[in-house]
Amino acid sequence: MNNTEYYDRLGVSKNASQDEIKRAYRKLSKKYHPDINKEPGAEEKYKEVQEAYETLSDEQKRAAYDQYGTAGANGGFGGGTGGFGGFDGSSFGGFEDIFSSFFGGGGSTRNPNAPRQGDDLQYRVNLKFEEAIFGTDKEIKYHREATCHTCHGSGAKPGTSPVTCSRCHGAGVINVDTQTPLGMMRRQVTCDVCHGRGQEIKEPCQTCHGTGHEKQSHSVHVKIPAGVETGQQVRLSGQGEAGFNGGPYGDLYVVVQVEPSDKFERDGSTIYYKLNLNFVQAALGDSVDIPTVHGDVQLTIPEGTQTDKRFRLRGKGAPSLRGGSMGDQYVTVNVVTPTGLNDRQKAALKEFAEAGDIKVNPKKKGFFDKMKDAFEGE
Ligand SMILES: [Zn+2]
Ligand SMILES: [Zn+2]
Repeated sequence: MNNTEYYDRLGVSKNASQDEIKRAYRKLSKKYHPDINKEPGAEEKYKEVQEAYETLSDEQKRAAYDQYGTAGANGGFGGGTGGFGGFDGSSFGGFEDIFSSFFGGGGSTRNPNAPRQGDDLQYRVNLKFEEAIFGTDKEIKYHREATCHTCHGSGAKPGTSPVTCSRCHGAGVINVDTQTPLGMMRRQVTCDVCHGRGQEIKEPCQTCHGTGHEKQSHSVHVKIPAGVETGQQVRLSGQGEAGFNGGPYGDLYVVVQVEPSDKFERDGSTIYYKLNLNFVQAALGDSVDIPTVHGDVQLTIPEGTQTDKRFRLRGKGAPSLRGGSMGDQYVTVNVVTPTGLNDRQKAALKEFAEAGDIKVNPKKKGFFDKMKDAFEGE
């Protein structure tokens, strides 16, 4: 059999390593996450990617899929729990490679009634250049699957309760015999009556129609620490989607996107600033006010300063996320050659040249140059 659809969904080859699969999955699930991507069809794509990943990330399920297609992957071929290992349970994750625990919980379990953690969500927050440096508080609003407030997650109409599934007798799976090239094979597939829950709801809750979940508009406060950079994230434990069978909520990852500044550039805790100096200031020296994110700082320019000369303003950069002192700001000089000199300035410069015994021979404008200027305008 040739089963490649799951590989195609992730855009990887059939012999892709787990690392490649994981990378492709992270990229696509970020791209299509319904809280980020509002284009039509994105949510569908997102689900397809989830489904493909759930199988391909588990070597046993993947082998079954390669051999028997989706029926193999979803059947009872061992399995155990998927995912990359759970979370540490602290309320704030650090900033070290949070992605390594991303999409932790969940995965398939043998017992359909076992509590399962809900899905994690990702939310992108835009920060001004200064907000990222000094930290800020943000209120973020998003939609999520919450535990149904009417049935408290059971899916059954209040006053009734779910009963053991009549088809699978609570197992959540049923046995199916299939003829394969290797002979008759008995496989387990998810029960088509209870969809794996092991319980049947005779009278579904009218709010959630038996799912136990309902869409909720939710808002949460997030404290962005000082010194964050684009791509870093803050984890808010339990702010993701509702769990299953009484399992805990998933987590929310707030991903930071920092707007560029028109004055500064930043690399980690170091800030860069370009200082344009008039050539007279550069030649004679001066004292100039330099903007920094901590306010203006006076800088002494020594005489004879050249383009590309760099000054360091200690402690005027951004804080390090790992704590400790502020970084520095570097000021790089750019000496600007004056243009559009008036006659007096030209005369002064000629005298300047003579005083220094410098020979200059500026080209006088001829007839054709003047014509050219006239056509080109200012
Ligand atoms: Zn309900
Ligand atoms: Zn059933």
